[in-house]
Amino acid sequence: GDASRAAAGTGGRRGGASLTFSLGDWLRRAGRPRPLPGRLEDGRARAPAPPPAPHLFSDPAEIEALRGNLLAWYDRCKRDLPWRTLVRGVWVSEIMLQQTQVATVIDYYNRWMQKWPTLQALAQASLEEVNELWAGLGYYSRGKRLQEAARKVRWCWGVGGVSKALCSLWVGAGSHLPCLAGAASCWHKATGVVDGNVIRVLCRLRCIGADSSSPPVIDRLWDMANTLVDRSRPGDFNQALMELGATVCVPKAPLCGECPVKQHCRARRRVEKELAFASQKLFGKPDPVPDVEDCGKCVGGCPLCPPATEPWDSSLGVTNFPRKAAKKQPRVVKTATCVLERRGCHGAPEYLIVQRPNSGLLAGLWEFPSLLLAQGLQEEKQQEALADHLQAWMGWPVAAGDLQLIGEVVHIFSHIHQTYVVYSLPLDGDVTLDPASSPSRWVTEEEFHASAVSTAMKKVLGDTWAFPSFPLGSSPQPLRAVPVPGPSCCSALGSLVLPSGAEST
Ligand code: SF4
Repeated sequence: GDASRAAAGTGGRRGGASLTFSLGDWLRRAGRPRPLPGRLEDGRARAPAPPPAPHLFSDPAEIEALRGNLLAWYDRCKRDLPWRTLVRGVWVSEIMLQQTQVATVIDYYNRWMQKWPTLQALAQASLEEVNELWAGLGYYSRGKRLQEAARKVRWCWGVGGVSKALCSLWVGAGSHLPCLAGAASCWHKATGVVDGNVIRVLCRLRCIGADSSSPPVIDRLWDMANTLVDRSRPGDFNQALMELGATVCVPKAPLCGECPVKQHCRARRRVEKELAFASQKLFGKPDPVPDVEDCGKCVGGCPLCPPATEPWDSSLGVTNFPRKAAKKQPRVVKTATCVLERRGCHGAPEYLIVQRPNSGLLAGLWEFPSLLLAQGLQEEKQQEALADHLQAWMGWPVAAGDLQLIGEVVHIFSHIHQTYVVYSLPLDGDVTLDPASSPSRWVTEEEFHASAVSTAMKKVLGDTWAFPSFPLGSSPQPLRAVPVPGPSCCSALGSLVLPSGAEST
C-alpha cells in the first residue's frame, strides 16, 4: 500500500493512530456476545481483577456528563462528510479511510458510490474494475475485500435477510472494524467502537500508557468504549468519538482548549497540575506534592500505566499517550523494472504492462515487467538478470546492453522499502507476446493511467518520461519485432520479439 501517505508514528488515517484487526479479532471482540461481567465465555465465574480506578470510567454521573458534552459538540461541529447518512457509505468509507486521509478518500468514495450505487452492482463488478477505481489509494486488498463482502452479503440477503452475523461479515470485510458505528445505528445496538482515533482519545482520557496495540490494553479499551457508548444514540456517539480523535484530539498537537471532554481528561489534568506545580516553585512557594494521575500501582507494575522504562515525559504533555511498541523496520527490497515501449498505430508511444498474481502484494494490479533482485547485486549483474528475465519471458535473446538505465524510484509500502531500478527498452515495430506468459497488454499513456496500476508504477513512467538524455523511442538499438498475422498495433497477444539483426528460427 501507499504507506508514504500514512502519517508517521502514532499517526494514521485522518491524522489519527492506526490499528487494524483481523476478522477473527473483530468477531471475537464484537460480533460474538461478550461474556457477562465477572464471567468467562463458558459462563464460569472469573476471579475479579482489582480495577485500576484511574484508568476506568466508574462514576455514572461522569459518564452521563461526558456523553452529553460529546454529543452536543458533535451536533454542533461535525464535518459534513458524504458518507454520514448511509450505512453502506459508512462501511465503504471506513475501509477507504484506513491509513488514508479524509481529503484523499472523498473523491474515491464519490466515484465508488456513483459507479456501484447498490450492493448488487458492486457484487457484479469485476476485480479489474475494482482495482482500476482503487488505483492510487493504496492497500489494494481493501477494495478486493469490499467486493468479496458485497458478494457474500448479497448471498446472505437472498437466504436469510440482514442479521447480526451479516453485520459481522460487513465489518470483517476489510480486516478492520469499519462500520460498527453505522451498524450500531442501523441495528439500534449500543455497542462501542475502537479504532485508531478512539484509542488515542481513550488512552488520553484515562492516562493509559501501556502499549496500545497489546491485547490486554485493547480489551480494556473495548470495555471502556462499551461502558461509555450512549444508549439512545450509539451510532452518533461512536461517530463523535472518532470525530473528536480526527479533528481535536489529534496525534501531535491536540487542541485541548477546544475539547468538549477536557474536564474528563486525566492526561490534561496531569499537565495542568504539573504547570501549577512549576509555577508555585517559580514563585518560591513551598513545594506541594504533585498529585499526578498515576494509578498508584505504577511501581508495582500496573498493566495500563507507562512502563517503568519509559515513564511520563513532561515535555510531551498529553501526547505521552497513547504509546505503541516500536515498529519493525521495513524490509528493504530492490526490483528491476523495464519500460518496454513501441510506437502505436498513430505514432503515439505504447507501453507493455503485465498483470501481477492474484495474491500477495499489489495482487492483480498491472506493472511494467519486473524482476525481484537478489541482495547486493552489482548494477551490471542486475542488468544481466533483467535481460535474462525478459528473454525467458519473450522467448528471444535480449542483450543486457540493450537495456537503458533510467534511474531509481523509491516507494515506501507499509512494511517494505521498495526501490525500483528502472530500465527502458524501445521496440521497433509491431510486438506482441507469448500468450502463455502472464496476462499482458499494450497501453497508451492515457490507458496506462486509467488502468489498475499502482502509484509506484506511475512514478516509474513519470521518471522515464522525465529522463532528459534518452527520449523514449530513440534507443540506438531498438529491438525488431517479428510481424504476425492478426490485429496489429492495439492488440495484446501474439508474436515474439527479436533484437535487431537476430534471426527468427
Ligand atoms: Fe484529547 Fe486534550 Fe481532549 Fe484530553 S483534553 S481528550 S488530550 S484533546
